[in-house]
Order: sequence, then C-alpha cells, then structure tokens
Amino acid sequence: MRCAAMTVDVDRDVNLAEKGRIGGVSRERDGNDSPRFKSAAKGLKLIVSILEDLGIHGTFFIEAETAREISKTTDLRSLLRSHEIAAHGIMHEDLTGADSRVRLTTQQIEEIIVGGANSLKEVLKRRPVGFRAPYLHIDDSVLRLLAQEGYIYDSSIVRRQDRGEVYPYRVFGPLIEAPIYSGSDKEGKKLVSYLWSLHERERNISDYEYMVSKFSAGLLVLATHSWHMVESYNDGLLSEKKASDNMKWVRTIIQGAIDRGIEFMTIEEYIEERMGD
Ligand SMILES: [Zn+2]
Repeated sequence: MRCAAMTVDVDRDVNLAEKGRIGGVSRERDGNDSPRFKSAAKGLKLIVSILEDLGIHGTFFIEAETAREISKTTDLRSLLRSHEIAAHGIMHEDLTGADSRVRLTTQQIEEIIVGGANSLKEVLKRRPVGFRAPYLHIDDSVLRLLAQEGYIYDSSIVRRQDRGEVYPYRVFGPLIEAPIYSGSDKEGKKLVSYLWSLHERERNISDYEYMVSKFSAGLLVLATHSWHMVESYNDGLLSEKKASDNMKWVRTIIQGAIDRGIEFMTIEEYIEERMGD
C-alpha cells in the first residue's frame, strides 16, 4: 500500500535561527530581520486552494505566533477546517540549539511543546496530536518530552530509503515518528521530499517526479513551507510568474502521485487507520 501526506510548515517568512536568540527571525530585508508573516499567510491560502482542488486533506504544522498573526486578517479556523493541524513551536525555537547556540532547559522545551499546542487550540479550537520541530532540530530528549506530553507523533526526522519503502515507526513509548522521506535522483544523488530545493530553483520538478516514481510502500511524507510559494532565500519576494510556477509544480507533483495510485491522507489519519493497536 502506498500512501502520502502533504505536509506544510506554516511559520515566519524565510526563517532563520540567530545566534543567541531562542525564537527565529526572518531573512533580512531592508536591514530588518524582525519576523514577518505576510508571505506565510499568502502562500497558505494558495496551498490550501491546490489541496482542495485536488480533493486531498493536508497536514499543517503551525507555529503559534504565526497562527495568531495570520488570524488577524484571515479566518484560519475556517480555512483549515478540513485539514489536520499540528504543532511547530511558539516562536520557531531552535530546540536543540544547534544554530542558535542557546541551550534550552527541559522546562523551557516543555513550555514550548505544551504552549504551542495550547495556543493552537485557542485559535483553531482543536488540539494538535502531531509535532514538527523548527529547522527539524530534534533529539532524543525532545522526543521523550513529546511522548510524555501526550503527542501521538513527531515528523522531524529525515530517513534515507534506498529501496523506496518508508513506514512510520515507534520511537519512545506510544510516540510514533512519521519520517520525512529521503530518496535519490536519477544520478543516485540524495534528494529529500522537502520541496525546499525546488522552490529555491536548485532542483527541477523532474527530480521529484522521479523520486515519487521510486516510492514503493508505506507513507511518503512530502513537505514544504507556505511562504515558499511566494518568497525564497535566493530570490526574495517572487514575481507572479515564479509564484505561479511554484503552484503549478506542487500541483503536478501531487497529481502525479495520485495518478500512480498513491493515496493521500493526513499523518493523523494514516496512524489512526493503519497503525491502530
Ligand atoms: Zn519551520
């Protein structure tokens, strides 16, 4: 059985970790690196429209502050009513301190994990059961805390799969890891199912189509950021032409997978329906 989940990280625009700071910043523009949220909001509406056109339910990992910011101008609850919502920190914190160089205490990490979920519940009236760490920075102690705080799954680990098979697996106690897929392109070079390199114009859509064609069993977790539809690190705010290419590419990858008989669902649905005890 081949299943796929389209996952979207909804967080501050073109985010980066900054040394000495717990929360993330946005890539500097006009000398200012304060967090921005406009591209995240704009891209979110575009991605939701693609998923709904294709009749699939996505999984949205939403940073709490971004949820509050987008909610000021958009009815986020209604926009995402038929999709899964999952947690992605409060201010896009670097939980392991790998880039920020800030070593968080267990209590601080707990507050981020619990507080992020509580804030989403306030805004969206639903409690998330899944988590993705900002920058995918995760370690065993964060995973243990997620299990302890009642999360059902995490999706922050990238797993290389040369045979095209990838299944969610148990990590700590009841906590399940739904890994991000990493396969190969035609030349055998590593290619991750995050569409990052596609939107930065460092990879072609045919690379991803090839990767999808080699996926043979399990759950293929595809991932992107909402802001990446309209802004990138390499090009800044995108022209209408580039933004419309992004939309076309995302649609083509998903449609191509559907045409190959891959069934799309949320990560939560996959775990509930296929991993029940
Ligand atoms: Zn993020």
